[in-house]
Amino acid sequence: MRIDDSSLRPEPVLEIRVRSRKGSLRCSSCGRKRRGYDRGGDVHRWRHQDFGCWRVELVALMPRVDCPRCGVVVARLPRAEPGSRFARDFEAECAWLTAVANRKTAGSFLHVAWRTAGDIARRVAERLKASTLSPFDGLTAISVDETGYRKGHTYVTVVVDHERRRVIRAYDGVGKEVFGLFCQ
Ligand SMILES: [Zn+2]
Repeated sequence: MRIDDSSLRPEPVLEIRVRSRKGSLRCSSCGRKRRGYDRGGDVHRWRHQDFGCWRVELVALMPRVDCPRCGVVVARLPRAEPGSRFARDFEAECAWLTAVANRKTAGSFLHVAWRTAGDIARRVAERLKASTLSPFDGLTAISVDETGYRKGHTYVTVVVDHERRRVIRAYDGVGKEVFGLFCQ
């Protein structure tokens, strides 16, 4: 993913316009790497994790690929599941929150309806169930995010598979000792 531009709206919303990297397009149907067909016509928006007090929206055209097996179809997007209005990272955060708090709390923290928080958590759980691989199988790169919630009174450390963009582990607290739990 490549960031083209960004702008702040008065709501407050940080709008980030992104596009897929050249040569990284995959068919959304069979998952194989394919040549781009065009940049697509429709503009889509995905809610991403907040940046401070700013709501973040990713904005992009939906590129299409020319797949010899599937025809001209929309490319698979690394940032979101097909048909979802939310980025994968946002869904992962929402799912984690609903695991440690009720849906109403998770929804109000993320500024989504509690039903939406529940739907997202269900989708993420189904995806995890469908994946029989251990999160450590084929793991080559991780990223670690330390984030605060409840107005900065509570902190969590989230370890993410950088390549596959999914949460591997989440721990209460931040710092070297907390990250040490992941290395045990
Ligand atoms: Zn295909």
